[in-house]
Amino acid sequence: MAVDVTIIGAGLGGLMLARVLHVHGIPATVYEAESSPAARSQGGMLDIHDYNGQLALKTAGLMDEFGGLVLEGRQAMRLLAPDGTVLFDKADDGTGGRPEVQRGELRQMLLDSLPPGTVRWGHKARLVRSLGEGRHEVEFADGGTVVTSLLVGADGAWSRVRPLLSAATPEYTGKSVVETYLFHADTRHPASARAVGGGSMIVHTPDRDLFAHREKDDTLHAYAGLTEPEEWFAAIDFTDAAAATTRIAREFDGWAPELTALITDSDTAPVLRRLYALPAEHRWDRVPGVTLIGDAAHLSAPNGEGANLAMLDGAELGEALAAHPDDPEAALHAYEQAMFPRSAEAATMEGGGADDPVPHDLIAAYSQHEESRQDARRS
Ligand SMILES: Cc1cc2nc3c(=O)[nH]c(=O)nc-3n(C[C@H](O)[C@H](O)[C@H](O)COP(=O)(O)OP(=O)(O)OC[C@H]3O[C@@H](n4cnc5c(N)ncnc54)[C@H](O)[C@@H]3O)c2cc1C
Repeated sequence: MAVDVTIIGAGLGGLMLARVLHVHGIPATVYEAESSPAARSQGGMLDIHDYNGQLALKTAGLMDEFGGLVLEGRQAMRLLAPDGTVLFDKADDGTGGRPEVQRGELRQMLLDSLPPGTVRWGHKARLVRSLGEGRHEVEFADGGTVVTSLLVGADGAWSRVRPLLSAATPEYTGKSVVETYLFHADTRHPASARAVGGGSMIVHTPDRDLFAHREKDDTLHAYAGLTEPEEWFAAIDFTDAAAATTRIAREFDGWAPELTALITDSDTAPVLRRLYALPAEHRWDRVPGVTLIGDAAHLSAPNGEGANLAMLDGAELGEALAAHPDDPEAALHAYEQAMFPRSAEAATMEGGGADDPVPHDLIAAYSQHEESRQDARRS
């Protein structure tokens, strides 16, 4: 293949694409806005599914390295009621298809698998323009430019490459999450640590929920979910950590103390993450010389699939380019025709596939029960 593939964004999608191209001897350059791999905490755990994320890792030849990152026992799953009653409790018996890893370690593994210099840090794409005949010019925030005949937008939710293909922009989903961390939980927050258990814990009601993970070194990482308009969150000053914590915790009044402690006892300031999504059926007509992967193509409300899909997109696009060395347009077409229906289906999923340990039926039934209980209380 004669062209050097230009990838914007060194997230899991962009790095996976660069890795699979490298495996096939195809050069690629990744331009990343952040100044270094350590510029931002990559926090959080990801379960990597055997039907998408792991397929990508196999294609990349990185299954052994991935195996070394897996945190044992983290596929355990609990569903609790707001009063702390355990509704469902599944231990990790080692047979699940969704091993958990730290996102930062997975990203570092991909970085380590690339030739030095592949990623150009501190290159924030500011503007991308078409030069015709499938060529594009990328202008960076520092004024530098690069011209390419094969451009891939792997630059996430607010992609600068997407406007070349589509007028769609992400819209607020109606829900946001507030992120907290409790460190050394077994000794410092034992009741919350027991409530979360060895893996993940979910408490779900119609407009409030709590999701928590046991990460490395008995860190509890929690997301308090609130279905509220953006203006509701705008009225809270998140620069005042104590006041924001009190305000958010008030929304969980009456919940078991070991659950509310996941908010009130946070060792870090609460971080608001507004959740946006592209239309589930987002797609575009083929434009020569450019495509999108990952969130740039199909941002959806978090459902455990996004990082997995980003990696699968990257791997499949890399394979397609390797299979059509003299016809990149055929490669982009083949990649997009598989990606569009896959991501549309995933966008409407509440969780993963058939082996999903999250009992969505139980959550739905419990949610319905809670809703009618609240209706009865109101009337
Ligand atoms: C709260 C929350 C929880 C989630 N939990 C899960 C989960 O458990 N499992 C799961 O599979 N998914 C999860 N996701 C989704 C997942 O994080 C994303 O789908 C995934 O990170 C997408 O990967 P990506 O490579 O497409 O984009 P990103 O990870 O967003 O990477 C994009 C990269 O591009 C860079 N970039 C952005 N703009 C520019 C620019 N203009 N120029 C150059 N570089 C740029 C960014 O700095 C970044 O490095 C979660 C998302 C959220 C918000």
